[in-house]
Amino acid sequence: MTALNLAGLIAAAADTIAAHAEELTVLDQAIGDGDHGLNMKRGFEAVRAEAGVFAAKPLPEALKAIGTKLVMTVGGASGPLFGTLFMALGKEIAAEPDRADLTAAFGKAIEAVAARGKSQVGQKTMLDVLQPVHDALAGGKTAAEIADVADAAADATVPMKALRGRASFLGDRSIGHMDAGARSTALLVRTLGQAIGE
Ligand code: ADP
Ligand code: MG
Ligand code: MG
Repeated sequence: MTALNLAGLIAAAADTIAAHAEELTVLDQAIGDGDHGLNMKRGFEAVRAEAGVFAAKPLPEALKAIGTKLVMTVGGASGPLFGTLFMALGKEIAAEPDRADLTAAFGKAIEAVAARGKSQVGQKTMLDVLQPVHDALAGGKTAAEIADVADAAADATVPMKALRGRASFLGDRSIGHMDAGARSTALLVRTLGQAIGE
């Protein structure tokens, strides 16, 4: 992946988060504290501000640095978790990854998020999108198909009862709303998939 591509990916991700910040906030208002849109926007704008610095690094180092920046700037529960995702991806990925490298590294990164969050699939969190996306990637699906898998996975958090994060404080009242972190994850998957292509 060239430096130019990485800068483009960062801009695309930051644009998507900015365009959907209000939607993410509304989702988090229903079953959380209403800051997810702002948290994500703050973090991705901070990454955008230093896109040139990240893009000049080899991919593994760039991803680790982006993860560290996200931990420092997103805040909330999601900051350390998205940060861990990118840091672990950087730790595991090859400098010039093929699809198999990306898939394997992404799998390890999801495990790191689950360990950090003491969470697992089925608890109405970002993991409920990350894991199906990994499986679609492993299954050879196209970027467009993977984006649809991510959207469907975010939709599938609606009937779930939250067992981790703030929404879990609501118990059964968390049922009937989409998880904000699942939605932001699906947005990032579609955008990055489009930018990376096949
Ligand atoms: P906070 O809840 O601290 O205000 P955010 O609103 O930014 O933080 O992020 C909330 C999102 O973080 C949730 O929608 C969920 O997807 C994710 N999340 C929270 N706790 C966990 C956890 N333990 N494991 C995985 N994801 C989590
Ligand atoms: Mg919140
Ligand atoms: Mg908060």
